[in-house]
Amino acid sequence: MSDCLFCKMAAGEIKPDIVYEDADVFAFRDINPQAPTHVLVVPKTHIATLNDLQPEQAALIGKLYLAARQIAEQDGIAERGYRTVMNCNREAGQTVFHIHLHVLGGRGMHWPPG
Ligand code: AMP
Ligand code: ZN
Repeated sequence: MSDCLFCKMAAGEIKPDIVYEDADVFAFRDINPQAPTHVLVVPKTHIATLNDLQPEQAALIGKLYLAARQIAEQDGIAERGYRTVMNCNREAGQTVFHIHLHVLGGRGMHWPPG
């Protein structure tokens, strides 16, 4: 996927602010953070949306969450709490069509508020 932003990052053509990397996934700080911690955890393989996920890729989703857990510990928010979100398609607000898990924390993330 030569025109995919996150594939270009995975290939090292664009260098984001990496906070975690292993053989299968990498993670970096969101360029437009919505919370003090706002990290995107991304599989190195191209999967456009959650709708495109195949059964044989199930373990990869577990790896996204294990990375999210480690990032939360690194940023010191694991005990306070954090939110993980994956948007799928237009009405959810997906803008980059290579799946990614948002890790958000460092402030109250209650929804609905109250
Ligand atoms: P989504 O709306 O769920 O597709 O999330 C895409 C996210 O990618 C948004 O929160 C953007 O701020 C973020 N983003 C877009 N371009 C970059 C970039 N070059 N570096 C870091 N984050 C980015
Ligand atoms: Zn991609």
